[in-house]
Amino acid sequence: MAHPAHEDTIQLVKEIFRSYLKEGNQRQTPERFMVLEEIYRADGHFDADDIFFRMQEGGTRVSRATVYNTLDLLVECGLVQKQQFGKSQYYYERAYAYQQHDHIICNECGHVLEFCDPRIGEIQDMLGKIHGMNIESHSLHFYGTCENVEACDKRKEGLKKGSLVN
Ligand SMILES: [Zn+2]
Ligand SMILES: [Zn+2]
Repeated sequence: MAHPAHEDTIQLVKEIFRSYLKEGNQRQTPERFMVLEEIYRADGHFDADDIFFRMQEGGTRVSRATVYNTLDLLVECGLVQKQQFGKSQYYYERAYAYQQHDHIICNECGHVLEFCDPRIGEIQDMLGKIHGMNIESHSLHFYGTCENVEACDKRKEGLKKGSLVN
């Protein structure tokens, strides 16, 4: 599983975001940097509301609109990756200094697992050779259901209540 980003990484991504905002003549508000920091201190995948509620719980005053708009900016400048697992909702995860990985998603509770398997990289290289393409990246999602039914049901309950689920 993922772990929160290193302190050096957090400083570095702040610098990248700062110059991105400057170049685009966008305002460098403290709230935007707080959203960025929250994301890089987080683990794994989350939706926009997860971030919003987590910041509120942590006592940070930031509007929902600011969270959404900052997420868009972070996706644009490549610091955050936006993914859709299954149905409708979008998930975000940090993109800088984060290893290439793939996902397994539960169709019932929406649980997202990350894994890293070098064999997938080998398949990527092989397919590139066969098809005469320089493949640069891929996005691979497996869908299924949790073997642990109890934990799965618990997460499903959490989803219904609208609380935070990891
Ligand atoms: Zn991931
Ligand atoms: Zn499940």
